[in-house]
Amino acid sequence: MGIGWNFDNSYARLPNSFYATIELNPVRSPQLIKLNKQLAKELGLDSEELQSEKGIAILAGNTAPDGSHPLAQAYAGHQFGHFTMLGDGRALLYGEQITPKEERFDIQLKGSGRTSFSRGGDGRAALGPMLREYIISEAMHALKIPTTRSLAVVSTGERIIRETELPGAILTRVASSHLRVGTFQYAANMGSFEDLETLAHYAIIRHYEEIPNSETRYLRFLEEVIRRQAALIAKWQLVGFIHGVMNTDNMTISGETIDYGPCAFMDTYDPDTVFSSIDRHGRYAYKNQPVIGGWNLSRFAESLIPLIHEDPEQGVELAQKEISKYMDIYDENWLAGMRSKLGLFNAEEQDKDLADELLSLMHTHRADYTNTFRGLTMEDMKDTPLHDKDDFKAWSEKWQARRARQEQSKDESAQLMKEHNPVVIPRNHRVEEALEAAVNDGDFSVMERLLKVLSNPFDYDSEQAKEYCSLPAPSNLPYRTFCGT
Ligand code: AMP
Ligand code: MG
Ligand code: MG
Repeated sequence: MGIGWNFDNSYARLPNSFYATIELNPVRSPQLIKLNKQLAKELGLDSEELQSEKGIAILAGNTAPDGSHPLAQAYAGHQFGHFTMLGDGRALLYGEQITPKEERFDIQLKGSGRTSFSRGGDGRAALGPMLREYIISEAMHALKIPTTRSLAVVSTGERIIRETELPGAILTRVASSHLRVGTFQYAANMGSFEDLETLAHYAIIRHYEEIPNSETRYLRFLEEVIRRQAALIAKWQLVGFIHGVMNTDNMTISGETIDYGPCAFMDTYDPDTVFSSIDRHGRYAYKNQPVIGGWNLSRFAESLIPLIHEDPEQGVELAQKEISKYMDIYDENWLAGMRSKLGLFNAEEQDKDLADELLSLMHTHRADYTNTFRGLTMEDMKDTPLHDKDDFKAWSEKWQARRARQEQSKDESAQLMKEHNPVVIPRNHRVEEALEAAVNDGDFSVMERLLKVLSNPFDYDSEQAKEYCSLPAPSNLPYRTFCGT
């Protein structure tokens, strides 16, 4: 029995300009740190074989699996508002694994060494950040938020130079594709009309098969990408996730969350929250994420204009019309999600105000976002950090009256809330604690425990989960994240 690779490399069949075929950059002594056995199974891969020397050599980028076509993808993007050429500078795509259910997933190594797109970088990644991506991406998946997945982390046995020396590692990332807004910007700015058309056709086949082959095909494509991204960003907001680096190269066409660099979950509710050390002006602050999503989609729309209409002016007009719907679609998604979080099945005019009032109470009282909703979900509400506040009591009466006005019972309402208000999220202090034990002491048990709890975030009966609801000890320093390590 082999590992179970079953590659089809459709991306490699795109015009040559979309990628650079690469040589592998073997690492000294790879060791498997973490393998996602459940995901391996879904991909049709044998976990035992993946853990063998041969399997680990593949996960380390030392030998290419049979049927793969290692390449670095070309893309451009707006980074903090500035357009630039990018591309996989520290990643390689092996190819697309076709699963037993006939689904197609990119298998990508991140931290696999230099490529022609590396510019000044070393093409490598550090163990801490790769484990962090593993933890948070898998937590997002369990939270039912579309995301790239993590199949494995191997350490390389090599040290990489950052501000200090750090142990190197490689993450195997699994995605329904790595097509980005930036891939389209690349085709539109650096490629021919045919390149752009080929890419759009490819993306539709891969992610939006339902779009018929008609004259308005590319406009429909834009509309559908807008829908998926609006839905995704609403989910981020509803769970308190801050991506941290929403550059256009980090926004997928599939609608999956990608690139877990400086991202983090918010504890205390504050719309101005920024964690990333490089986001000095708060461009990607929590409250800005929906607007930035719209900005990124405008860049996507611009790159599609030649396909939308042969007359550029009409193309712009049609594209703008689609873009102008984005905020409403986002708002609808957000409000629908908020209704579920509040146990509401039907819609009433005042629901948005009700939700906004709660958020404003959280902001005033510096309440924890996740624990507020978790507390509301439980019968006695004593775990809500707001429970003893007078203004909350007034709000709560209004909320209870609102719930009583719907057909469904209180139990049904509570059940709905339990499905939408997680008990646990990957809180920053818990993630840091797990990474410190793993990276500094080689102790992976803290991470394993955390991963286990995060794999079941809506379990209100779990004793273990409760332990992970507690907040970090007060600190004078704000939590900071770093990317590019
Ligand atoms: P990101 O901020 O993670 O979206 O990355 C932006 C760009 O920088 C991408 O083109 C990456 O491939 C590239 N990059 C990030 N880290 C490195 C590195 N260590 N070596 C080479 N390229 C890198
Ligand atoms: Mg990126
Ligand atoms: Mg990154």
